[in-house]
Amino acid sequence: MVVDLDAIAHNVRILREHASGAAVMAVVKADGYNHGAVEVARAALAAGAAELAVTTVAEAVQLRTAGITAPILCWLNNSDANFTAAVAADIEIGICSPAHLRAVAAAARGMGRTATVSVKVDTGLNRNGVSQAEYPQVLTALRTLVDEQVVRFRAIFSHLAHADEPEHRNTDVQHARFLTAIAVAKEHGLEPELVHLANSAATLTRPDLAFDLVRPGIAMYGLSPIPDLGDFGLRPAMTFQARVALVKQVEAGEGVSYGHQWIAPHDTTVALIPAGYADGVFRPLSGRFDVWLGGARRRSVGRVCMDQFVVDLGDNAAGVREGDIAVLFGAELHAQEWADLLGTIHYEVVTSPRGRVARRFVGGAR
Ligand SMILES: *Cc1c(COP(=O)(O)O)cnc(C)c1O
Repeated sequence: MVVDLDAIAHNVRILREHASGAAVMAVVKADGYNHGAVEVARAALAAGAAELAVTTVAEAVQLRTAGITAPILCWLNNSDANFTAAVAADIEIGICSPAHLRAVAAAARGMGRTATVSVKVDTGLNRNGVSQAEYPQVLTALRTLVDEQVVRFRAIFSHLAHADEPEHRNTDVQHARFLTAIAVAKEHGLEPELVHLANSAATLTRPDLAFDLVRPGIAMYGLSPIPDLGDFGLRPAMTFQARVALVKQVEAGEGVSYGHQWIAPHDTTVALIPAGYADGVFRPLSGRFDVWLGGARRRSVGRVCMDQFVVDLGDNAAGVREGDIAVLFGAELHAQEWADLLGTIHYEVVTSPRGRVARRFVGGAR
């Protein structure tokens, strides 16, 4: 796979233009949506992102270990996570329950240091975030911990359920609940340094929800959070590609790959692509997807196997040879095509290449 760090920088600039002056927190969870968290983080910061976000303490520590000094927030951990490591590495911890706050406070006390905490409030996604029921308890405990300087209270944030449907009224419901949550914190004597709500979709379509900071993920990788609304000028950063391992003739009537799901209708030439479902080429794509090879689309034929699949070159007028590069998805063949074929979203498509797939970076100030 090739990851274009100039595309990341371009996309960060587009997001900044939409952010109405709010800071950009680049979401690099899941190894930067499988693009390489450290490299993406550096490229995003160089392009003007102010902060970073990941899911777990371990992901955050990995960025620190790589020498990244920007603020890093992590927001989904079990309450027995290694918060000592987080405090030691100056990582902001998003908490979602009284138990999480207690665990963070215990870690900070044990070290004689102050932990930086943000409160993730549930405003209607009903997933990760402090529930309405536990919110007062969290605020009361937080107030005491702030007074004792065990905790620095950084932010209140929340996450939207329908940001990818810009007309959905639930976004306004969540917005109102978010404002209430901020007001209730203030009633408890807690003034957050900043508040944030917007993911990629909201950053691009709801400038009124930008608050102090926006938290885009997918758009930074160049994929539209709302494909029906177009690409917003974003450039896909990931190209999933493989080099042709073999070109061979197949006679009419011969079957190709396991189960002979495809029988050559005429004498033809096929190319063997050494990437399979163990590498992130979903088996249900068998015979249904194209690769870009030799200047044209080539249809996959027969089953995708663990390590390989086959494409039909016809008379191979283009002269495709072993070693030529086949693009599975990227700028020309959009990850959305796989998403449509698979009944999923491009988020899952770009996070699928794995295992033997080596990552190569181009662009960026390296
Ligand atoms: C993943 C995530 C984001 C980024 O979402 P995108 O749709 O990729 O922009 C923002 N906030 C939270 C809480 C997330 O989990």
